[in-house]
Amino acid sequence: MALAVQPFSGMAPSSPFPFVIAGPCAAESREQVLQIARALALNGGVHALRAGIWKPRTRPGSFEGLGEAALPWLKEASQLTGLPVWVEVAHPAHIGLVLKHGIQGVWIGARTTVNPFMVEELANALADTNLPVLVKNPVNPDLELWTGALERLNRKGIQQLAAVHRGFSGFEKTVYRNTPNWQIPIELKRRFPELPILCDPSHICGHTELIPEVAQTALDLGFDGLMIESHPDPTHALSDARQQLKPEQLAVILQALVVRSFKVPEGMASVRLNELRGEIDQLDAALVHLLAQRLQTIEAIGKHKLEHELPIFQPERWNQVLLQVRALASELGVEPAFIERLFHSIHQESIEKQKAVFRNPAVQTHG
Ligand code: PEP
Ligand code: MN
Repeated sequence: MALAVQPFSGMAPSSPFPFVIAGPCAAESREQVLQIARALALNGGVHALRAGIWKPRTRPGSFEGLGEAALPWLKEASQLTGLPVWVEVAHPAHIGLVLKHGIQGVWIGARTTVNPFMVEELANALADTNLPVLVKNPVNPDLELWTGALERLNRKGIQQLAAVHRGFSGFEKTVYRNTPNWQIPIELKRRFPELPILCDPSHICGHTELIPEVAQTALDLGFDGLMIESHPDPTHALSDARQQLKPEQLAVILQALVVRSFKVPEGMASVRLNELRGEIDQLDAALVHLLAQRLQTIEAIGKHKLEHELPIFQPERWNQVLLQVRALASELGVEPAFIERLFHSIHQESIEKQKAVFRNPAVQTHG
């Protein structure tokens, strides 16, 4: 089902994209908040300020934010710069405090999106407040949880809504703090084309080096904006020190970003695009035909194995297939790791087909 979404201030379709919300991981002092707000407003390119007040930390004993005491500084920063301020809310009690101090927007953090009970309570507290809400993806790569949180808010009448892609935690160490798994926000966008999506390259990267690349990828994929952490003195930040940019570094990055217009092509450009898309459609059809043929042969193999009491899975044969297709991919200039991933999926389906044959050899599983 579609979401009923309305643009919020600064996010209106007429405003220059990308919508950028920037500020420190956490509000640490009145001076720090006012200093960063002034610098970001002066540099331009930033449409809203962010600062964490209540910080959900992985381990106890880390800096957990200054709570309500920091809210008047944010209001002051907003009055000083004219920029709206946003904070993370993680508990229904936070909503009343946010309203009391004139905060203009809130986001739900990754560690809260994972919890449907808490999202439901927040949705109840946010209904009728008219506060715009950003929903970060859950920590784990689960699109349904992310979708569910957005739906819970929307069902309570919250329409000023956007998603924030901040990457997903995984067991394997990668160059990212949280791996982007771009296919997940892409699928979210496919399901809800009306929903704006921002990217948070700071929490994806965990350090500043890769931020420009990740931010550019997000824009190239048609994301609507960015949430980026910026601190006047990152090395002394009380949380997320490695990933926060000085405001002047952020200004350089924002200026270097290529913002593409993504207009619907007209005239010759659209003729050529349609031609190419026609080719792709034919190739896709050929691929599906080939896969259907392959699965029919697999079925015959399954029957043969059953008759001759051979096991479904033979590791040497599977290794041989992988080696062959990887070598061919290399020869043709196709990334072997991609072909390997694809064949893992094809192999899985082939095993399923043979299992079906073993369970019931009489049944024809294809037309
Ligand atoms: C944050 O934005 O500071 C934060 C805690 O982010 P996340 O919920 O994405 O970890
Ligand atoms: Mn942070």
